[in-house]
Amino acid sequence: MPNPDRKIFLTMDTDWCPEEVLQFALALLQKHALPCTIFATGRYAALENRDPTRIEIGLHPNFNEAKLAQYESKLNELLALYPHALGVASHAMMSSTPLLELFKRAGLQYDRNLLFYKQTQARAFYHYNGLLRLPIFWEDDIWFSHEPEVPFAAAPLLEERFHYLYNFHPVHLYLNTASAAHYASCKPYYRDPAKLREVRHAGYGVHSYFMDLIEFIAAQNIATGLLHELLS
Ligand SMILES: [Zn+2]
Repeated sequence: MPNPDRKIFLTMDTDWCPEEVLQFALALLQKHALPCTIFATGRYAALENRDPTRIEIGLHPNFNEAKLAQYESKLNELLALYPHALGVASHAMMSSTPLLELFKRAGLQYDRNLLFYKQTQARAFYHYNGLLRLPIFWEDDIWFSHEPEVPFAAAPLLEERFHYLYNFHPVHLYLNTASAAHYASCKPYYRDPAKLREVRHAGYGVHSYFMDLIEFIAAQNIATGLLHELLS
């Protein structure tokens, strides 16, 4: 049995990706028997027959352009699709006092809107209203924007205790995104999986990083889990 003190939580934000792109990411998880919490931006056929012991669904609303009065309807659109969701991760990690109050009022139990990139000291904590706030340890778009091509490093996974959240996006796994410039050049084809395949990066990118991470998880027998397991 893996030691539960050393645990990785894989998460993904679907970010309105095409069905085929999400299926690619789900197949990768399934092939390696990895659990993952997927923050969904809408309805996906591939999520309808999920195994709930392997895939947890959270909500990924976009409040970027929304006014305060629209927050609740934005959240409710996704809650209607996934009424059993326990968690929420806003697009672009948007959070504020009114949003955290809304999440709690809507019956959600945790949010994943804090980025503590590679901060080994960061811990989950309870907000004053009872919402559990989960820090992200590593995220693909931060990696390729700020330290592209710096390969996976095992050091933080050699600590004696950690609960790290690694957040990926299906499109970056699909494209093996290598840098902000690479992604910007691919973005016009966002809705076209065949074209996205053609512009996939051949060198070290997000998919390479993911493979290095999961190989290390397997080799070191590191525990993996779903975010609801962090609720007490
Ligand atoms: Zn997003």
